[in-house]
Amino acid sequence: MRVLVTGAAGHIGAQVVKMLAESRIEVQGVDSFTDFYSIEMKQRRIEALGINNLILKGDISDTKFLRKLFAEFNPTHVINLAARAGVRSTWTQFGLYNQSNIVGFQALIEISAKNKVEHFLFASSSSVYGEGLNPPYQESEILRIPKSYYALTKLANEISAKAASSEIRTTGLRFFTVYGPWGRPDMATLQFVAAGILGRTAVLTGDVSIKRDFTYVADAAQAVIDLLDRPDGNPFEIVNIAGGRPQSLGDLLQILSDSGLQVTTTGGNLSELDVPLTHGSVDKLAMFVPAIPSTTLRQGLIQVIQWARAIPADSLAKWVVPPTVK
Ligand code: NAD
Repeated sequence: MRVLVTGAAGHIGAQVVKMLAESRIEVQGVDSFTDFYSIEMKQRRIEALGINNLILKGDISDTKFLRKLFAEFNPTHVINLAARAGVRSTWTQFGLYNQSNIVGFQALIEISAKNKVEHFLFASSSSVYGEGLNPPYQESEILRIPKSYYALTKLANEISAKAASSEIRTTGLRFFTVYGPWGRPDMATLQFVAAGILGRTAVLTGDVSIKRDFTYVADAAQAVIDLLDRPDGNPFEIVNIAGGRPQSLGDLLQILSDSGLQVTTTGGNLSELDVPLTHGSVDKLAMFVPAIPSTTLRQGLIQVIQWARAIPADSLAKWVVPPTVK
């Protein structure tokens, strides 16, 4: 098995590359090091995880780059995690998302099919479920137009993959709020932990009652790796990557406080692009993998706090930029 991982300097991608390399699976990472958040943080992340020599700088929307990459590495499996992530840009900021999530995705699945890649896995998102469904959300739900353009690009990826499934085996991964050490600085966990350590006031982008199905990064990465050789059957599958145990932002703050990190907060208006609850059904994932994500939020947060305390305060302050309040 030769696995190509895109978005490999990102939060989930770096963990996937590290775990594949530890399992002695041949892996090539690719990342274009976008400036959605600190490029320095991405660089430090791959150095700290010891995978910097496995990552090539390149853009998945660059077809010339892809042709050379496929000619040289000839992957049998592709895990596409490269994307512009995050739901909180308005419906008019289409260009932010198109290049990686639409153009890049299409270029990568096309060359993968042409090169007879055995299995193409790609990041979708829990945000495709939108609002108003009965939890826990099942992959079989018929979905309406999502709330954000980001979610729409992920839904477009799922539809494209289904359309391509006569040519290539595909699995869409609907990730639910993946957090952990070296996490994404735009997400609540890192915002809160950094605020506590740096003595800042954390800006809430939703009421403390909003709930997320927090999924620890190593569990999410393990599930992706386990899905690489999911049993033959449908050429196209969509799978929730979740633990199925949503907790509120209030719970998150309480656990931080119990762990000695007092966080003061301000704000609290839910963005119109965000939802009050995410809760994934894990039934389908459980059919495909030996273990579903099981790290508790408390266990995971202890890891995040330990990690953040070991980062120099000036770096943490530079990497974790508070959101602007509108
Ligand atoms: P991340 O932003 O940390 O990682 C994405 C990486 O992709 C970045 O390092 C970026 O530089 C790279 N990238 C972007 N465009 C690229 C391109 N055109 N070519 C090559 N590299 C490119 O995000 P993450 O949290 O690790 O998310 C990974 C994937 O999972 C994304 O597709 C994201 O949309 C999806 N996802 C994540 C979560 C979560 O909770 N973290 C939830 C739902 C979905």
